[in-house]
Amino acid sequence: MSNAPILLTPGPLTTSARTRQAMLVDWGSWDRDFNQLTASVCEQLLAIIDGSASHHCVPLQGSGTFAVEAAIGTLVPRDGKVLVLINGAYGQRLAKICKVLGRTCSTFETAEDQPTTAADVERLLAADPGVTHVALIHCETSTGILNPLPEIAQVIKSHGKRLIIDAMSSFGALPIDARAVPFEALIAASGKCLEGVPGMGFVFAEKTALAAAEGNAHSLAMDLYDQHTYMAKTGQWRFTPPTHVVAALHEALQQYNEEG
Ligand SMILES: *Cc1c(COP(=O)(O)O)cnc(C)c1O
Repeated sequence: MSNAPILLTPGPLTTSARTRQAMLVDWGSWDRDFNQLTASVCEQLLAIIDGSASHHCVPLQGSGTFAVEAAIGTLVPRDGKVLVLINGAYGQRLAKICKVLGRTCSTFETAEDQPTTAADVERLLAADPGVTHVALIHCETSTGILNPLPEIAQVIKSHGKRLIIDAMSSFGALPIDARAVPFEALIAASGKCLEGVPGMGFVFAEKTALAAAEGNAHSLAMDLYDQHTYMAKTGQWRFTPPTHVVAALHEALQQYNEEG
């Protein structure tokens, strides 16, 4: 192992020996012990944003993009309209997801060294009352831009619109407080800042919004309403879970909490 390269990319990155060790155990995907492991992971993830009162944590198999696509497909109704704020490649991907899913979208793009401002969003929402959701990248990994999330979120709330945040490369590294920043969904994944292994994403979805999202999804496997409803009822993932990834993330979260 000492000759293994150290990964300094945004993710997947080098994991600790403890995290890798946690993958040496096999779990039955429908066993009570594994259900408890999943529940503990979701609880710890929610605690990071102080979101347990307002949001559900819905885990999903796949890479981060799967979870972003699932969040948009589940939470944006088919007749909704998404304003996508872009300052790099991942923002472009948000717009592409909307197009592929058939959700109407408009885009606002800044130069790759310019964050979007709250004043930009104020102007854009005032100009287009048809927008139902705003989607943005918190920290645009491809350019390093950090968008001013709390200010933008307040503007969106004051217009009565809903916010979807791709926080893939900021969640776990920068503080985000669900009690102070209003959002409908925030998305991250196992293999980024938390230093788990790649293989699952998770969406913090506002409880009331998720409850109202039945039937929105265009897809069976990517339906977060269904994923959550089934998990709430049975404690189990709907389809085969990435058991070793969940175990590794559980162990990575323990270390995250120990480090404070
Ligand atoms: C890594 C990342 C994603 C997800 O990419 P995947 O290749 O699907 O894991 C999405 N958004 C941002 C900002 C990212 O950094």
